[in-house]
Amino acid sequence: MSFTTEIKKYLVNELAVDVVGIAPAEALKDEPRGFRPEDILPGAKSVVVFGKSYPDGAVQSAFRKFEDGLKAAESVYSTYASEICPNIVLLFDTFNACQFIERTFGYTAVPLPSGAMQNAVAINTDLPLFSGPYKGGLPMSIKNAALAAGLGEIGWSTHFLTPEFGPRIQLGALITNLELDYDKPYDGPRLCEPEKCGICSSLCPTQAISAEKEDGFELISAGGKTCRVTKFVPNRCYVAAMALRRKYEGASPVSDVVGSDDPTDGEIAAALKGRPINDYTYDHYPKFYCDKCLIYCPVGNWKERFSDKGLSRARGGSSK
Ligand code: SF4
Ligand code: SF4
Repeated sequence: MSFTTEIKKYLVNELAVDVVGIAPAEALKDEPRGFRPEDILPGAKSVVVFGKSYPDGAVQSAFRKFEDGLKAAESVYSTYASEICPNIVLLFDTFNACQFIERTFGYTAVPLPSGAMQNAVAINTDLPLFSGPYKGGLPMSIKNAALAAGLGEIGWSTHFLTPEFGPRIQLGALITNLELDYDKPYDGPRLCEPEKCGICSSLCPTQAISAEKEDGFELISAGGKTCRVTKFVPNRCYVAAMALRRKYEGASPVSDVVGSDDPTDGEIAAALKGRPINDYTYDHYPKFYCDKCLIYCPVGNWKERFSDKGLSRARGGSSK
């Protein structure tokens, strides 16, 4: 059995990952200096990317919140889909996969931290708003590595989309100096067609995601594959996702700490400094994980999983 087969078998059979792909480290040579595999592991040869999908049951709890007004259901979604559980599971999976490579083959393997929203949003602000690849502490873009490793495409929303689960998956990755067999970038049917779909931009409550015909676009490339994505405005997303205004509050009450849906970096920084600590959440800051752009994205058999089963009143992800 080849090294590649052994590693993939371990990830699928022992760690129960849903998807796995391998890219040559060279495929990420155009990433910013300091964030390339070779910068993190001298002599890096391969980047192994893997993912665990969110349980449909956890995702559907977000529909209970948005469609039935059951705000408490957000705790199911945030615990088991968007934040706590997937990240903790992925941390252990990544650690174990690295141990497996080092102990079995004697090569070095670097576990990469992953985090909530790490594959969700582009980062173009100096504020550490999201645990994104270039500003919030993540050393390498796992999303771009997944693109090079053939796991799917980056959608208009900037979420990473897999054919099997759409954006409802958390990704982890490791870098190793072991040479492996590489997967080709995804070349199946186009997953995201914003000119026909536009669900993420129409549902985004703060216009962090523009409509496909407005405001231009950005290109993200890795491993020879290029994706066209919205010019994402993270400050706008942050207002809804982190409940900086009362109209975006979840089960825990919040006050208006910014005055608009389009705050400057300075306004957000001031708001965070002045935000009152309370006892409603484990980290003292009530959050409201919007994620409409993720939960209603039709890619990954959304209709069959949710609409056809009566779990969402949106039809094919198009009406909510
Ligand atoms: S909601 Fe539609 S336009 Fe947005 S990323 Fe998903 S498929 Fe693309
Ligand atoms: S999480 Fe909500 S506010 Fe942020 S981009 Fe997605 S839809 Fe917009």
